[in-house]
Amino acid sequence: MSKKIFAANWKLQKNPLQAKEFCEIFRAQVVPQTYFWDHKEIFIFPQNFSLDSVIHAMKDTPVFTGPQNIHTEKSGAFTGENSAVFAKEMGAKTILLGHSERRQYFGETHEALNKKVKLCQELDLLPVFCIGETLAEREKGETEKVCFEQITQALNGIDKSKRIVVAYEPVWAIGTGKVATVEQVKEIHEKLYHKMADLNFSNFQLLYGGSVKPDNAKQLLEVPHVDGFLIGGASLEVDSFMKICSQ
Ligand code: PEP
Repeated sequence: MSKKIFAANWKLQKNPLQAKEFCEIFRAQVVPQTYFWDHKEIFIFPQNFSLDSVIHAMKDTPVFTGPQNIHTEKSGAFTGENSAVFAKEMGAKTILLGHSERRQYFGETHEALNKKVKLCQELDLLPVFCIGETLAEREKGETEKVCFEQITQALNGIDKSKRIVVAYEPVWAIGTGKVATVEQVKEIHEKLYHKMADLNFSNFQLLYGGSVKPDNAKQLLEVPHVDGFLIGGASLEVDSFMKICSQ
C-alpha cells in the first residue's frame, strides 16, 4: 500500500518567518516518529519568498517542498516569472501545477501546463497536478468530461512511467467550506483511477482537495483511490494540519 500524502498549499500566505516557525514546530512533532514517515508523505507548497525558509527548516527530513507554479521556460526574458531550474537548485523537490486559482485568475492553459509538466519531468521534480470542475460544470453533468480533458490535454506526451500526483479539487469546494460528499468523491476518484490506468500511467497517486478539515479528513481518506489530500486553509495552522496528517 502506498503512503498517504498530505500536501499543504499556503497560497499567498506565510512570510519567511511565519513559514520557518510553522516548520520548526511541525518538525519537532513529527520528525522523530518513524511510524509517521513509514506511512505518510508530507508536501509543503509555500509562497516563493518563503520557499528558502521551508527548505532550510525541513533540511534532512523527508518533506517535499516546492513552488506553487513555474514558468514554461527554464530562463530568459520573462520578467516576473519563476524558474523551475532555480527552484531545483534551491532544493525544491516538487511543483504544484494547474491549481484552479491559477487557471481562473492567471489564464493557465492546458498547453502551458503540458510544457510545465514536461519540464518538471526533465528536471526530476515531482508534479502535483490539479484538476477539477466548476459548480456550473458539475450542474451540467460535465465533471467527468472536464477532468478527463484536463488530464488528457495537460499530460499528453509525458513520460507515463515517471511518478505524478493528480489532485482532484472541485472548484466549488475550494476555500468555501463546502466539502464534496463521500459519494461524490468516491464516484469521481474511481473514474479518475481507471482513466489514469487506461492511459498507461504506472506510478500515480490521486489526492482530494477542497475544504478538508480535521473533522472530515478521516471519512474522506477511507474512500477508495483517495491517496491523500491537498489542503489549503486547514494547512495554515500546525495544529489542524497535524490533526489531518494524523488520520
Ligand atoms: C486548495 O487551495 O488547494 C484547497 C483545497 O483549499 P481549501 O482546503 O482551503 O479548500
